Amino acid sequence: MVLTVLNTSQSALSNEDIGSRLEEKMDRVTLYRILQSFCDDGKLHKFFGDNGKTYYARCQDCTTDHHSDNHPHFRCLECNTVTCIEKPLAVQPLPTGYQPTSVASLITGYCPACKKQR
Ligand SMILES: [Zn+2]
Ligand SMILES: [Zn+2]
Ligand SMILES: [Zn+2]
Repeated sequence: MVLTVLNTSQSALSNEDIGSRLEEKMDRVTLYRILQSFCDDGKLHKFFGDNGKTYYARCQDCTTDHHSDNHPHFRCLECNTVTCIEKPLAVQPLPTGYQPTSVASLITGYCPACKKQR
């Protein structure tokens, strides 16, 4: 049910967005637990927006024990849509001794639809 909401959405959704799209109302804690378990299963990945919200999006090739969502996310300042940019994020070479396990990057700006109207 929760997954259906994200499957039908082209963009990433915050937990509030998901909650408001569910047919049956669910309390925040229950929803959070469900979303978290999908993250553990490799079905969803979560990331934090610059607006303090937590977003969830579908994973492409993730498995239970390995997430490979090292792509940037784009938030449109006009329509607030958050999209996964399915391009690998270039990781800067790190100083010796640092081992990165995940890379996150959030880009803000205007999406193609909003850019046209400007
Ligand atoms: Zn993932
Ligand atoms: Zn937009
Ligand atoms: Zn993503």
